[in-house]
Amino acid sequence: MKKRNFKPKTCERCGDVFKPTGGHAKYCCDCSIEVSREKQLDCVRKHYKKNREKKLEYFKKHYKKNSEKKLEYNEKYYKKNREKMLEYHRKYKSSKRDSKMFFRTLAMTSTIADSK
Ligand SMILES: [Zn+2]
Repeated sequence: MKKRNFKPKTCERCGDVFKPTGGHAKYCCDCSIEVSREKQLDCVRKHYKKNREKKLEYFKKHYKKNSEKKLEYNEKYYKKNREKMLEYHRKYKSSKRDSKMFFRTLAMTSTIADSK
């Protein structure tokens, strides 16, 4: 394979003479990186600008829709959970009380057994 030698070119950006790595190179190595970065940024910026309003609109709509849904969901969830929590709490409390009662009666019976 023969190495392709391109004629030295003048960078369109900085004016430096450079050896192009491809036939269509317009910029020196440093500048090509910069330019591609700028192009990318520009593309992103353009894309972002174009889409920002759409996104905002979509977001607003979506958010509004979702916030209502979320509120509804939260309410439902809270109601559901509150009952569950209350039930659990009641059970837990009662079981604790039961265990207290159990230990108390145990202590009482043991003292009765001791006094006997
Ligand atoms: Zn350059």
